[in-house]
Amino acid sequence: MSGFDLLIRGGLLVDGTGRPGRPADVGVAAGRLTVLAPGEAPRTGAAEVIDARGRVVAPGFVDVHTHSDGVTLLGPSGGRSALVRASVLQGVTTEICGNCGSSLFPALPERLPAMRAETRITFGGDVGAYADFAGFAAAHAEVPRANHLASLVGHGTLRAGVLGPVDRPARPDELRTMCALLDASLAQGAAGLSTGLIYTPGSYAGTDEVVALAAVAARHGKPYVTHLRDEMSRVEEALEEAIEISRRSGAALHVSHHKTAGRYAWGRTERTLPRIAALRAEGMDVTCDVYPYTAGSTALAAMLPPWANDGGLGALTARLGDPAQRDRMRRAIAEGVPGWENTVGNGGWDRISVACAPRHPQAEGRTVADLAASAGADPLDVAADLLVAEAGEVTIISHSMVEEDVRRVLAAPYAMIGSDGVPKPGGRPHPRWAGTFPRVLGRYVRELGLLRLEEAVHKMTGMAAARFGLTGRGVVGDGAHADLVVFDPATVADRATFTEPLLPPAGIDAVVAGGEVVVRGGEETGARPGKVLTL
Ligand SMILES: [Zn+2]
Repeated sequence: MSGFDLLIRGGLLVDGTGRPGRPADVGVAAGRLTVLAPGEAPRTGAAEVIDARGRVVAPGFVDVHTHSDGVTLLGPSGGRSALVRASVLQGVTTEICGNCGSSLFPALPERLPAMRAETRITFGGDVGAYADFAGFAAAHAEVPRANHLASLVGHGTLRAGVLGPVDRPARPDELRTMCALLDASLAQGAAGLSTGLIYTPGSYAGTDEVVALAAVAARHGKPYVTHLRDEMSRVEEALEEAIEISRRSGAALHVSHHKTAGRYAWGRTERTLPRIAALRAEGMDVTCDVYPYTAGSTALAAMLPPWANDGGLGALTARLGDPAQRDRMRRAIAEGVPGWENTVGNGGWDRISVACAPRHPQAEGRTVADLAASAGADPLDVAADLLVAEAGEVTIISHSMVEEDVRRVLAAPYAMIGSDGVPKPGGRPHPRWAGTFPRVLGRYVRELGLLRLEEAVHKMTGMAAARFGLTGRGVVGDGAHADLVVFDPATVADRATFTEPLLPPAGIDAVVAGGEVVVRGGEETGARPGKVLTL
């Protein structure tokens, strides 16, 4: 009974299964857990004791949807450590990156230099591009980290890694190569296949291409994870495409950051969620994730029609220099393009604010409509000028959802929590990277009573681990991996805002990853036990 490295004593154990919390002590030895009845543990014999009276002890949170693929590879300088820290300080012990069709692998060797040049721009520094999951994992293994990282295989990356960033169907031989690269990375331990069918180059693919790739994931027993082709006026058709892909391929379906955004789709979760519930009742394996905010965040370039991005960032900025091409883009936004989501047409430039434009900090936090009014210019020209000046890389925040839809998705019994955080140096990123998990526990559990505490914790832990095959994680039980979070249910809350997006939360007292205390008293300890997980 003695010899624990760590003993967490006197807390309410909410074990990640969804079952009611119960008083229990939790011991950690050699990176594994032992659950003890209160008072069963010896008074001495643990190297460290955490007093958890009045606190909840839960499995470490699994952030199922991040874009943190490269942030630790940027190195520790400047504001980067604040970015890396934000996830751990909210209690996240495993991040799942490679979402929305974008990962740092795989690619044919001859495509790697061009892809590395693109990731240098999109990640804000030289994070590399890798031939396969093993190369990605090896690069991460060189950089100590506090929590664990798993990665999906991004379809957009895979496509660019074989065809280049071009607007055309894949030839049969190219599709075979994509399937082979995907198969190799899944065999090495990647978590599944992701698509971002609103983003180029993923949007250039038709349904059949994705079915062929999802079938490879199915053979590995890994999920098809998708940012739907449309989350706005055509969200129901886009959901049906995802269902078709899952049915034809045999892969389990996971819908990323489910939302029905833009004025034409507000309230549409009253149709999408019953559709998913009915499929589950028929026995189909379908789940989703959600972040607890009514604003999203993406690239400014994604506000432009797909043909504008054909050929990658260099081709985009060249087109933006041509007034006739700008007029074509303006018309496409006003009139729509079949099969294209068209965020601005669904909402307006007054709902799009600049989050990150490193050479134009004065624009950050302001809407494109507001910048255009000040300059006496057309909003598309303001956006185009900004993109040209920033070499194509500007992040935006899109205030596109209504609270009722967010609450309905959060309450769905198959919805897990993902931040969709985009940790990039500079600017004012979306506060979800630093606030998602405490915001669910503070606002939606304690203040609004939308979820029971045990349900919310299950969505953040056991449900997520089951979906992504994180064996031995997500549930506190004897022999499980020692990933834990200790929080105060009376005070836990997000503090990050759109003006101060990296403020750490309140009430997250301690975080344990791989058996080591990585956060104590709300501060990082400096321990770096995190690993890249091979699944
Ligand atoms: Zn996405």
